[in-house]
Amino acid sequence: ARQFTRPLNDLANQWNTLLSAIAGAERVFEVMDEEVEEKSDTDAVKLDHVDGSVVFSRVSFSYDEDEEEETLEDISFEARPGEMIALVGPTGAGKTTLIQLLSRFYNPGQGTITIDGRDITTIRRESLRSQMAFVLQDSFLFKGTIRENIRFGRLDATDEEVEAASKLANAHSFINRLQGGYDKVLETGGTGISQGQKQLLAIARAILANPSILVLDEATSSIDTVTEIKIQEGLERLMEGRTSFVIAHRLNTIRKADRILVLKEGRLIEQGSHDELLQQQGFYSGLYQGIGAE
Ligand code: ADP
Repeated sequence: ARQFTRPLNDLANQWNTLLSAIAGAERVFEVMDEEVEEKSDTDAVKLDHVDGSVVFSRVSFSYDEDEEEETLEDISFEARPGEMIALVGPTGAGKTTLIQLLSRFYNPGQGTITIDGRDITTIRRESLRSQMAFVLQDSFLFKGTIRENIRFGRLDATDEEVEAASKLANAHSFINRLQGGYDKVLETGGTGISQGQKQLLAIARAILANPSILVLDEATSSIDTVTEIKIQEGLERLMEGRTSFVIAHRLNTIRKADRILVLKEGRLIEQGSHDELLQQQGFYSGLYQGIGAE
């Protein structure tokens, strides 16, 4: 049982929107940001560095204020700096929404989210997002060289820094085997390289960005074993010392998490480590048994 729960898919559209925004498509940003504009940014502060402690306190949210059912309801948890938090739950449970609130694409209807003790509605959005990096299933690649695509993580990085990040990400060797190497031009969406290679580029980009907070959406598509091992190794180096939120599909990843947040229908029904959750013999333990322990 390599995959934990199959129905954790279908994030692609949302992630694409998120990614285009993150990738600097100003227009998308503007459209999405209008929604959170009402809490004025005029007093918002810039962050220079954060340790990466993240706290959700009684957070509720609905996309539609008239809805009776809230998309997220009364969510509270804490991530200490450097911890790896796995988000688990069926499709529609609210995993993506939780990440969108953390990235401040929307503000909570109720409750607060803090980073290093500071309410994120008081942090400038650009400043907040510069502390975060995203490695998603469908990595955003634009038309440009591989070097430019990686450098997107930090625009003032030197060629040496781009290559150093690529080495840590386990991307360097495949890049060198490509005709043109770092100067190979990719088309939008990265046609011509494999899904796994796209992920390695996304990891390199994130390592270069050097964020305190990471968001990973683990791939569900089949990737060959050798590349998969490279990806796992690259991800581990990337996550080291950063607070990571992983929308996790693989049991191995989930087991490694410091804390698992189990979401169901917008509620955080269980949280704890793998062992703790198994002992509770609740929803998670049922899921785990359902797929057969490895
Ligand atoms: P998950 O990531 O766990 O699959 P989501 O956070 O994507 O769950 O979705 C939670 C709920 O919110 C679902 O019922 C989904 O249909 C709804 N939803 C997600 N995005 C939007 C949106 N932009 N507008 C309205 N409803 C949405």
